Amino acid sequence: SVPLTVVAAIGSASKFGVIIKSGAAFERFGLIRHTAFDKTGTLTRNEPVVAEVLTTEGTTRAQALTWAAALEAHSTHPLASAIISASPEKRHADKVIEQAGHGIEGTLDGARITVGSPRWLEAGQLGGSIASLEQQGMTVVLVHRDARPVAAIGVRDELRPEAAEVVRELEAQGIGVTMLTGDNTRTAHTLAQQAGIHDVRAELRPNDKAAAIAELAQNGCVAMIGDGINDTPALATADVGIAMGATGSDAAIESADVAFTGHDLRSLPKAFKHARKGRRIIN
Ligand code: ADP
Ligand code: MG
Repeated sequence: SVPLTVVAAIGSASKFGVIIKSGAAFERFGLIRHTAFDKTGTLTRNEPVVAEVLTTEGTTRAQALTWAAALEAHSTHPLASAIISASPEKRHADKVIEQAGHGIEGTLDGARITVGSPRWLEAGQLGGSIASLEQQGMTVVLVHRDARPVAAIGVRDELRPEAAEVVRELEAQGIGVTMLTGDNTRTAHTLAQQAGIHDVRAELRPNDKAAAIAELAQNGCVAMIGDGINDTPALATADVGIAMGATGSDAAIESADVAFTGHDLRSLPKAFKHARKGRRIIN
């Protein structure tokens, strides 16, 4: 059974939108020395918009977006909503398979369409433009039709307005901050710099995120904050897994100790402070 003081403290944490699932998780919450943030959908606004579409000869912008959107109609990835919104036609591909951290593939009008990271798919002649879009902080996804690159889509997802303040506040509390992302190194560094995060680990697959958490945990209690299916192993590995409850995937929320249902990340440093006080009262 959980002591009443802990129940009360957990109850007041919920005022910040921080839903702590157990007394044990609350105890660890007050001990956190390091935080690892997922980028897409956690540090960013999660309002991605298509900012650029580059195509190869014979493919139009409208075609590329329609093909990609027909796959993304089956995905809950933040990039999916951007591509669907930009698409002139709303179609549904068949035999769709999503590869967490890589992309998605399926069939449309008898053609094999694949959409995903340039780390996963060959860029061909589009390769030259990708670096420049990434340097501007965009995430680039490639579109393949029958195994040939036909388009590169640049998606912009801005940092949450409070991100830099949250990083400063955590550091002021003596809590370290790392960015973990499946996105590419250039995009990750551009956004990390804007947030004031110096430790950036990019191009990570879901299990790499978990391995990074295990490494950080050697120096003390680690919290992982994430939203996606790709964050599930890392959320489970962390001393405290915090799932973005308002926008996150069900799998992420299930594997976490804490669901964050608030919309302002500044609640997190507030809740950490509160949990440390709670521990002093309890012990
Ligand atoms: P993050 O860690 O930033 O949340 P993910 O691990 O979910 O990112 O994805 C890593 C990369 O894989 C994305 O930047 C994108 O290039 C690609 N990707 C993953 N899922 C999809 C999808 N549904 N459609 C297109 N690209 C995807
Ligand atoms: Mg994410």
